[in-house]
Amino acid sequence: MNERVLIIEDEVAMIRLLELELAYEGYEVSIASDGIAGADKALNENFDLILLDLNLPGMNGIEVCKRIRMKKQTPIIMLTARDTISDRVRGLDTGADDYVPKPFAIEELLARMRSLQRRLQVKETEEILQAKDLIMNITSHSVSRGGQEIELSQREFKLLHCLLSNKNKLMNREALLNLIWGYSYVGETNVVDVYIRYIRMKVDEGFNDKLIHTIRGSGYILRD
Ligand code: CA
Repeated sequence: MNERVLIIEDEVAMIRLLELELAYEGYEVSIASDGIAGADKALNENFDLILLDLNLPGMNGIEVCKRIRMKKQTPIIMLTARDTISDRVRGLDTGADDYVPKPFAIEELLARMRSLQRRLQVKETEEILQAKDLIMNITSHSVSRGGQEIELSQREFKLLHCLLSNKNKLMNREALLNLIWGYSYVGETNVVDVYIRYIRMKVDEGFNDKLIHTIRGSGYILRD
């Protein structure tokens, strides 16, 4: 699928240049030509990357960036004619991921876009949870213990994820029920125990040191 890029920019010539070049590179391009429309679009739709001009009518780029960052972590590259240190710092402080001063060669902008996306992908692949030899890779949605791949259903994965990200902490049944099945779930109350049994069979069976422990009358704990 094509990467979606939002361009928030008011200069017509710049918009046309970016639109043409990015479309040529295979990006799917959306345009907003003032700050308010840009912030709205960024918050209401999903983009892989945002190119954000600093000087915009309606709301300036810094305000737009702050507004987006209150709710979303979409990568943002700030574009600005004002190549001063203070603008650079202000831009990054508001949560922009990179900064490209105008005028720029389109090749440089494209290279920065690619490098930002690479940087963020690397960050993602590093998202790993671990307890002893149990390893959960959030990005690839895979689990292994002692180097052996473990197959989990969506629910089992969610439950194990919950226990692992709260390891060494007692998780009571109600908390787990709420987190995994949602507050509105009114099914069997022992559904948590049933699923704990499933993941235990997959994670602990055949190992001497058990990771998942039952705290009688309270809930469960995954011990490192
Ligand atoms: Ca402008």
